[in-house]
Amino acid sequence: MSTTPNTLADYDAALDTLRARGLAVRALLAECRADRRWRAATVNVVWAAARDNGDRIVASVRGSALYEVTITLGAVGFNCTCPDHNRTGPCKHVVAVANRYLVKYARPEWTRLTEGRAALVAALDAVSDEGEDEGWEDPHPEDRAEAIALARAEFGPLY
Ligand SMILES: [Zn+2]
Repeated sequence: MSTTPNTLADYDAALDTLRARGLAVRALLAECRADRRWRAATVNVVWAAARDNGDRIVASVRGSALYEVTITLGAVGFNCTCPDHNRTGPCKHVVAVANRYLVKYARPEWTRLTEGRAALVAALDAVSDEGEDEGWEDPHPEDRAEAIALARAEFGPLY
């Protein structure tokens, strides 16, 4: 479950974290065998979710049987319960979950955070301008709180 940052610094930190995770997943995909990349398209990701504040992805996938996949983004590790997994690099199930992460989670989350940050900047600019007109040195705390509340958006579960 992702959270919505409150401050610009929080937004920037969240975007930095997301960028690092995206690069880690892309590096994981780059090291897999080419045939597994297209065979991953045959894998049905039954269920997937983020754990540990998004540091870990857990998923159930169906290939020829039902397998459990874990991808750790902080330390970039991966695991799958299928027999193919430990032979050479990430299996097609790990690749399928990594692809799903990029498309269904990382990309929408990037958009959400970018838009949220822009909304917060605009809202803070607006109350700062008001403050200048009325001679305030800082945005009125209530206006600022309201602006932040408006800039925040709800975000649903991973899948
Ligand atoms: Zn597997």
